[in-house]
Amino acid sequence: MISEYRSGFVALIGRPNVGKSTLINQVVGQKVAITSPVAQTTRNRLRAILTMSDAQVVLVDTPGIHKPHHLLGERLVKSARSAIGEVDVVLLLLEANEFPGRGDTFIVNLLRQQDIPIIVALNKWDLVLDKERKSCEQAYRNLISESSWPIYLCSAVNGYGCGKLIKALISHMPIGPQLYPPELVCDQPERVLFSELIREQVLLHTREEVPHSVAVLIDRVEDMDMSKSSLGKDKGTAILATVLVERKSQKGILIGKQGSMLRKIGKGARLQIQTLIDGKVYLEIFVKVVPDWRSKPARLAELGYEEN
Ligand code: GDP
Ligand code: MG
Repeated sequence: MISEYRSGFVALIGRPNVGKSTLINQVVGQKVAITSPVAQTTRNRLRAILTMSDAQVVLVDTPGIHKPHHLLGERLVKSARSAIGEVDVVLLLLEANEFPGRGDTFIVNLLRQQDIPIIVALNKWDLVLDKERKSCEQAYRNLISESSWPIYLCSAVNGYGCGKLIKALISHMPIGPQLYPPELVCDQPERVLFSELIREQVLLHTREEVPHSVAVLIDRVEDMDMSKSSLGKDKGTAILATVLVERKSQKGILIGKQGSMLRKIGKGARLQIQTLIDGKVYLEIFVKVVPDWRSKPARLAELGYEEN
C-alpha cells in the first residue's frame, strides 16, 4: 500500500554558527543558504524545499537566536521567534564539538515554552573524538533532560545522520500535497541569492575587519552576449552589485591594495554564482560608504530586512 503524501514546515533553530545553513545545503543538495565561519551570517529568512517521493519538507532557515545588540540584532531575534509559530516541527540544532553553554540553555528554555514538537540534532558530530562521544551526548541529554525531545547525531558537512533526521521530521508532517513545485529548491528570488553569495565572500575574506556592517545590493542583472569578451562565445549573465559599508576604513579594507581584495571577493562570488545558475557570469562590484545604515529602519527595509 502506498502511504499518503506528507508536507509541512520545519524551523531550524539554533545559536549562530551551529550549522543551520550548512544543513540546509546538505539536505537540498545545492547551495541555497550562505554559510561562514563567522557567526550570524543569515539575515533574511530563507525557505529551502526538499521534495521526495513520499514527502515535501520546507526548511525555514532562521538567524541564530542571540542577545540583541542593536536594531539589526533585534530584528534577527524577532524573525527567529516568529518562525517558530508558523511551522509543524522545530529542529533544534546544537553543536557537539562544544559542551552546552549559556546560549544553549537560553534557547532550550525559550523552546520549552512553545507548544510544538521539537527534534534535536547534535551537529558537527564529525568533530567529536571517539573517546569524547559518550560524555558529549550525555551532556546534551542533561541539557534537555525534562523534555522528551529525541536527539539525532549528525554532520551537516558530510551528511552523516541527515537521512534519519529528515525521516524523523517527516513523521511530524501532516498529510498533504506538495506545497511548492517539485523543481524549486528555494523560495528566494535569484537576486537575493546573488547578494548573499557576494556577502558570504566578503565575510570569508575579511573576517572580523569588516564585520556585519556590510550589505550587498544587486543593482542590475542582465543577459549578455559574451562573444566579444574574453570569457568565450557562450551567453552569460552580467551582474552589477554594490557593497555598502558603514565606514571609510572598511571600504579601504574591502578594496585592498590596488583592488586585490575586491578582486578576490569578486572571483569567489562569481564562481559561486556560476555554479548556482549553471552559466557564465560577469560580475562587477562597487563599494559605497553609508554611515550607520544598520540603525536606520528605512534603510533596513530598503535592503529587504523584513519587519516581522
Ligand atoms: P549557521 O550560522 O547556523 O547557519 O552556521 P553555518 O551553516 O554558517 O556554519 C558555520 C560553520 O560551521 C561553517 O564554517 C560550517 O562549514 C561549519 N559546519 C557546519 N556544520 C558542520 C559539521 O557538521 N561539521 C563541521 N566540521 N563543520 C560544520
Ligand atoms: Mg546561517
